[in-house]
Amino acid sequence: MTANGNGELSIEELRERYRIEREKRLRSDGVKQYAELKGEYQELDVDTYADPSFTRDPITEDTHVVVVGGGFAGMLTAINLTKQGVTDFRIVEKAGDFGGTWYWNRYPGCMCDVESYTYLPMLEATGYMPTERYASASEIFEYCKLLGQTFDLYPHALFQTVITGAEWDDGSGKWIVTTSRGDRITTKFVVVAGGILHKPKLPGIPGITEYQGKMFHTSHWDYDYTGGSPKEPMDKLAGKRVGIVGTGATAVQAVPQLAKTAEELYVFQRTPSAVGERNNAPTDVEWFKGLQPGWQAERIENFTHAVTGVQPEQDLVHDGWTEVMWVNTQKACDDPEEAAALERSDFETMEKLRRRVDTIVEDPETAAKLKPYYGKNCKRVCFHDEYLPAFNQPNVHLVDTDGKGVQQITATGAVVDGVEYPLDCLIFASGFETNTDYDGRVGFDPVGRDGISLSERWSEGARTLHGILSGGFPNFFIISFLQAGFGTNFVHFLGKSAEHVAEVIVRCDEEDIATIEATPEAEDEWLMVLYGTAAGAATYSASCTPGYYNSEQGEVDAKGARNLVYAGSLLDYAGYLERWRETDDLPGALITRAG
Ligand code: NDP
Repeated sequence: MTANGNGELSIEELRERYRIEREKRLRSDGVKQYAELKGEYQELDVDTYADPSFTRDPITEDTHVVVVGGGFAGMLTAINLTKQGVTDFRIVEKAGDFGGTWYWNRYPGCMCDVESYTYLPMLEATGYMPTERYASASEIFEYCKLLGQTFDLYPHALFQTVITGAEWDDGSGKWIVTTSRGDRITTKFVVVAGGILHKPKLPGIPGITEYQGKMFHTSHWDYDYTGGSPKEPMDKLAGKRVGIVGTGATAVQAVPQLAKTAEELYVFQRTPSAVGERNNAPTDVEWFKGLQPGWQAERIENFTHAVTGVQPEQDLVHDGWTEVMWVNTQKACDDPEEAAALERSDFETMEKLRRRVDTIVEDPETAAKLKPYYGKNCKRVCFHDEYLPAFNQPNVHLVDTDGKGVQQITATGAVVDGVEYPLDCLIFASGFETNTDYDGRVGFDPVGRDGISLSERWSEGARTLHGILSGGFPNFFIISFLQAGFGTNFVHFLGKSAEHVAEVIVRCDEEDIATIEATPEAEDEWLMVLYGTAAGAATYSASCTPGYYNSEQGEVDAKGARNLVYAGSLLDYAGYLERWRETDDLPGALITRAG
């Protein structure tokens, strides 16, 4: 790739451009730049979808398993338990229904950009056919409810209930779980299946609390204010000046919908997203009916292989994701020729996405600002067919902050580069906490053996075996990305983890295991496995623009060095779990037996 008459940059120039864009965005406060929806922002954390008058009597009971969270991870854990005959469990969920992410995220245009046939779990078991190749959030939420009904999960659920504490009682060999509704539940096992992308964060923009107009986070959309619904136009935005802060995967989906009815829409951009083609289409009914048993597991694995650079013989999904991710450009390699080829491949992929902007956005200045200059693994690539065209509408204004972010929020609007943009409504598409302390994210701090809390035990960073078991926390299972797998298809990861947790619980029951937790040695060994996979990603990430994939490029302290994900393929991670479960002695687990 060389500089040419078409204005394309040479590899050297691109490298330099990436460096400049990265440096513009580096800031010393890293993840601390964001604010939580609490304290002065508490009023933004209202569940506008649930019945606020809901009450129930507190429950005092003993159960076998408490599952914290009713999103896909919690539901799949419960389904796996049910399938293996364990039906004595509770699911405790803050929201008013199942769905997790898909309960909260009802912003206009919300959908899943991972193909529905691989994303929606258990399609063969439920017999459900997604209506479209990329399902809307409403359809996914309905599907979550269908899973709840099909597997009879509703009687187990305590909705609109928040866990306030979980304490291990050595005497009884049980956890004592307390909730915001005064419940007291004793249980042998706790599975924390939450805290992944559920805690909204606000951009730490000076003056944010001064704003007097309407403001909300995309995960708490206020349709009373905007009018409409996830499927209907937001009629009450007529005559309104709307601002949206952020241009990540959420904003890419919401902007085209806002553009339809807002009088003026201001899109405040710090870093542009790479946006590829979506090509959504109704499901081909004949094709779907012709799928043979076992098709879904095969398709899910095939997709995960394709997007982790383990190229399958046939690309079954064959969409934007598999095209962009087909070559794993962040793998560690010592061969300079191979490294150069990978770099070139990455540049070419991103050049293609940059050229797409020029073919769609009519104003060259706006098009230039919408082009992402960073590697394809630095931020989540997006796929959408209406986002870029929205910038051709006269009522849509891109306010590019040149990497600095919105400078100030006043009582009446947002300020960028000294210019105030008056706004009636300000929407934060600013994402979710991912790199903050785990106990803060799940909302309670479990107290394990000897009265030691998780935050104390993990004060120097997470300590786990496979990201799931931790020493000092008997019969306590964690499903999160922390020290665990990660993947484009989150539900693939969640499904593998849920299956593992349920199988280990059943095994404990079958073998009269009273307690199971990780040994300190196993935690250290697992950390070495994690480090072994991290090298390629760490080198690649060093030249990335900041974002949640790289903890905002903040300084990595001792704690941060332990709070990492398994950077290899999700299927390799799942292999660790499966091989471990198949052993006779569950190595690395500290086990006590009944009697
Ligand atoms: P992101 O964290 O991806 O994006 C947050 C946005 O806010 C970024 O554009 C960020 O800019 C911007 N921002 C933060 N602070 C400021 C500031 N001070 N001024 C201006 N802009 C600011 O959040 P999303 O909600 O978009 O997505 C989160 C994740 O949710 C996705 O990565 C994905 O995993 C999931 N998701 C999945 C979807 C799917 O289809 N499957 C759809 C939507 C979300 P900068 O980039 O510079 O930090």
